[in-house]
Amino acid sequence: MRMKNYINGQSVSHSQASIEVLNPADGTVVDTVCRSGVEDVQAAVEAASSAFESWKQRPMQERVSLQKKLAAAMRKHSAAIGRQLSLELGRPLTACVHEINRSAELLDYYAEEALRMKGYFPLTNVAGEKVLVTREPIGVVVAITPFNYPITLLTFKMGAALVMGCTLVAKPSEDTPLSTLALVACFEEAGYPAGVFNVITGYGHEIGDALVSHPGVAKIAFTGGTSTGAHIAGVAARTHKRVTLELGGQSPAILCEDADLDIAVPAIVKHGFANTGQFCYRVNRVYVHKSLYPAFCEKMQAATNKLTLGLGIEDTCDLGPMINEKIYANAYGQIEDAQSKGAGILTGGKRRTAGIYDKGFFLEPTLISDATPEMKIMREETFGPVIGIAAFDDLEEAVQEANASVYGLAAYIFSANIGTGLRIAEQLQAGSVWVNNIQRSYHSVPFGGMKQSGIGREKGIHGLEEYTELKTIYLNY
Ligand code: NAD
Repeated sequence: MRMKNYINGQSVSHSQASIEVLNPADGTVVDTVCRSGVEDVQAAVEAASSAFESWKQRPMQERVSLQKKLAAAMRKHSAAIGRQLSLELGRPLTACVHEINRSAELLDYYAEEALRMKGYFPLTNVAGEKVLVTREPIGVVVAITPFNYPITLLTFKMGAALVMGCTLVAKPSEDTPLSTLALVACFEEAGYPAGVFNVITGYGHEIGDALVSHPGVAKIAFTGGTSTGAHIAGVAARTHKRVTLELGGQSPAILCEDADLDIAVPAIVKHGFANTGQFCYRVNRVYVHKSLYPAFCEKMQAATNKLTLGLGIEDTCDLGPMINEKIYANAYGQIEDAQSKGAGILTGGKRRTAGIYDKGFFLEPTLISDATPEMKIMREETFGPVIGIAAFDDLEEAVQEANASVYGLAAYIFSANIGTGLRIAEQLQAGSVWVNNIQRSYHSVPFGGMKQSGIGREKGIHGLEEYTELKTIYLNY
């Protein structure tokens, strides 16, 4: 049965057209969703606009307590939502369930941080005058999300927007919309008023402009490709909408002469191949001091060879299929490009096809050695399980190479000398830099990109502020 949009607290679709959501492991249809048109956009924005007036007036404590109920409902249903996500995305099941639970944690964090939001008044010391600086919710937010972490990346936006008093229209990726639709039951269980949270499914190129240019929308919060982000920012600028953009990445790691390979290798393997490399701030390229290069390559090869490729839903593998042919072809094309320019393949390099692999895009985790700056693997976003490795002689030159990118999402530096690590971290042009360990990220700190990796920050108190407008009130009495 076709899944409908969720508009004003109802499952309803105006368009009769459908999109089949495929399991990327075998091409079977998991479900069908509405291929929305402009009427659906209109209805969703209208619902969010009319809900906004009363939602923004609800006491913060009430919005906080609803958000905590929503988080609790997500935890309760995390196994079912995680399964839906695994089926549509192809990622191993346990990691999908983890995504739902971790998103619930972020909802809780945002709710607690919202209670600490403050305005202020300066001590002007003028009799009969006070100046109040306060914050107001920005209005209706459109959240447009990509396929790779659909619930995490929606929660980055939704958790901040709703608790600060905005209402929301979510437009998930056409590849993975089912997990977002599965959240509807959690909103109903938590008891949210109709129209505060709406979901419409469909193709970005068909309904994106109608959503972004709609006069009833105040802000676009987007995560996705850099070129899509540029288009959205251009359309949003015509009506001076606020935007937060989380875009592409091509994140470098640098291993200094004194780096500990036992720390660096497992971290890079884990981070470079997570979600089958379909991960925005994955390690895409590695610059290794020439004295460590042979040992690093050998250890990387051994660790990568242990990774298994399989059907995500069976949960017995490290990597699953890639989401679609376009994403696969981009990554595979970078392997061919590197080979044609003289690189070596330490491991992987092939698409698996026989047996269980026959119906999906399964690309082996791949290490490219002797990579050079003119190779795509060192310049363009890969978004697949391929890592480029190059040796360097001079650390300052390695930093220059690392920064020679239009992207600036994340960077990694490994050195036994914390002074070196910090000095290089300060020089790297990236929104987040990890020194020596690629730990998991924290909800309480900002995340976002420099240069063409984005505008604005999500998470932390900054993430909440992005859904408010400052207002100054001059009070005379
Ligand atoms: P995409 O840009 O193709 O699509 C993302 C979303 O935008 C989808 O919902 C799509 O329907 C919508 N869209 C497409 N055209 C649109 C238009 N004209 N107007 C409005 N919406 C439109 O990206 P994708 O292939 O789903 O995801 C991969 C990309 O996302 C990669 O480039 C990756 O780096 C990026 N990403 C970035 C981050 C981050 O935090 N910086 C996180 C995850 C993914």
